Amino acid sequence: ETEPRVVLSARGLRREFAGFVAVNNVDLDVHHGKIHALIGPNGAGKTTVFNLLTKFLPPTNGRIELLGRDITYTSPAKVARLGLVRSFQISAIFPYLTVLDNVRVALQRPNGLGVQFWRSLSALDRLTPRAEELLETVGLENARDSLAGDLSYGRKRVLEIATTLALDPKVLLLDEPMAGMGQEDVGTVSNIIRSVARDRAVLMVEHNLTVVADLCDWITVLQRGEILAAGDYATVSSDERVKIAYMGT
Ligand code: ADP
Repeated sequence: ETEPRVVLSARGLRREFAGFVAVNNVDLDVHHGKIHALIGPNGAGKTTVFNLLTKFLPPTNGRIELLGRDITYTSPAKVARLGLVRSFQISAIFPYLTVLDNVRVALQRPNGLGVQFWRSLSALDRLTPRAEELLETVGLENARDSLAGDLSYGRKRVLEIATTLALDPKVLLLDEPMAGMGQEDVGTVSNIIRSVARDRAVLMVEHNLTVVADLCDWITVLQRGEILAAGDYATVSSDERVKIAYMGT
């Protein structure tokens, strides 16, 4: 087996807000075919790191590369087109459209940003096979003709993942994909993430350490904006500083 390919990397990421250092000296490597978790207590800087990677925020310092290309100063729309997509980018699913139409609308957007008017019906029809394939990937094929607003909470979040996959991301950023879900939905979403990570990279913020242990190949632990530890679950969970951070000392 060859070395897993780094598809997204950050070096020396730093972000200040009016002099307050929210993220400092963060290095990350995200690999094709792997699931990477970003964890840490509230205020650790996880959201800020996501905002820096997707270019919603410019870094005060540091460098970001996507598929070997420097994206440190690239626009969010361009970064999305290049293949780095965050789940909530189109997470606003349309409750009065069917499940299938939500995915077809997502498929007709070039980068998942902004709202676009419907194209002609024949143009939409051409998107149906791909939309059905995506619904199958996430196990929503039976809900194809339901209104998105009628889905359970867990299945709405699954539909969000399908609309994100419509952009064919090379790197998928998921912000607490299981938040608020019951055990059964957590299992379903874990399986979906595992299957979509086979041919792309996944970076996720996740609070549920059982999920992280079960699902993630690599874990970066942030605390007060800095990397406290990084490694596989066994490594980070046995790290004394991580234990202290999670016991709230
Ligand atoms: P997490 O997602 O890990 O909870 P955040 O990235 O949201 O952490 O926040 C990290 C720190 O940066 C917090 O102290 C937060 O208050 C601060 N912060 C985040 N965004 C801003 C902002 N726009 N202006 C000022 N401070 C911010």
